[in-house]
Amino acid sequence: MMKIAVLNAGSSSLKFKLFSMPEGEVLRSELIEHIGEENASFKTHKEALESLKIDFKSLDAIGHRVVHGGEKLSESVLIDEDVMNEIENLIPLAPLHNGANLEGIKVAIEVSETPQVAVFDTAFHSTMPKESFLYALPMEMYEKYKIRRYGFHGTSHSFVAKAAADVLEKPLNKLNLITIHLGNGASICAIKDGKSIDTSMGFTPLEGLVMGSRSGDIDPAIVLYMQRELMLSVNEVDTILNKKSGLLGICHENDVREILKSTDENAKLALSMMIRRIQKYMGSYMALLGEVDAFVFTGGIGENSEYIREQILNSLMFQAIKSLVIETNEELEIANETLKVLHKG
Ligand code: ADP
Repeated sequence: MMKIAVLNAGSSSLKFKLFSMPEGEVLRSELIEHIGEENASFKTHKEALESLKIDFKSLDAIGHRVVHGGEKLSESVLIDEDVMNEIENLIPLAPLHNGANLEGIKVAIEVSETPQVAVFDTAFHSTMPKESFLYALPMEMYEKYKIRRYGFHGTSHSFVAKAAADVLEKPLNKLNLITIHLGNGASICAIKDGKSIDTSMGFTPLEGLVMGSRSGDIDPAIVLYMQRELMLSVNEVDTILNKKSGLLGICHENDVREILKSTDENAKLALSMMIRRIQKYMGSYMALLGEVDAFVFTGGIGENSEYIREQILNSLMFQAIKSLVIETNEELEIANETLKVLHKG
């Protein structure tokens, strides 16, 4: 038996899960929030981690969730100085996440000598072909500035794809799937022969589906109009698109449980918009894949709302395809990946 800890450090939170591997049994699960906020119990991630009084000597490894791996970090890796530098280089591409993820890694290295592994949200999508990951911008935007689709939620898409293969009793590399992760953040992935060939999130997690508070796809000229004509600053537009749009923007609520209970017209409209966008992606991914073995629903909404799943599948084209509901478990996937890296090394 091996003991593997999984650490997910956010800007003001720390999630810690301890697994007994390979069984995947959870030995301990902790969530510390409001780190560094006014009147918070802990000023820093280090204080928060130390408060858990973990016996680090008993651990075989620590796996870290890292949102952005860019093009170079395309699979889970043992963390060394080079890896940390690269995660740092990627902070401008994921300012809300990579800085905090790196902080988590630094703190863990300070308090523990155990091997540390980074697992990236982008990694699963590194198999996308160029025609999927490039934007039709001047080529130098990609070549010089690495502006391209990276895709996110990869740990979740990968986990549920493997679980779907178990349910379908077929090897993953013989399966075509459309995995639909619907949580506060939401994304959809076209999987061909077990590999991601396209996904709805792009250069950042803003693109694609209508989410809790993110707009998903919009005409990029709207951004220019808001700046040029409405005189909004870059930060204001950023806040609108990431925090004030999506379901929240349409009906002042981003919790789908509340929206489902509401009789407000705009609440219904917000749901219809979200569902329509999902259907558009599903249809286009069916066209890319040709044959689809199953749709796989996951995330808080995808796992729990039969009503929304039924609304999404309300088309003869979709009903001909098997539809699965699989609870995602990103922490367990990170523990599995960590174990894999340890065995390789
Ligand atoms: P996150 O992306 O923050 O991890 P989750 O995957 O937990 O989020 O999903 C959160 C969303 O799932 C919320 O909109 C919540 O309302 C929705 N949700 C949770 N349970 C249900 C349910 N029983 N029916 C409908 N929506 C649900």
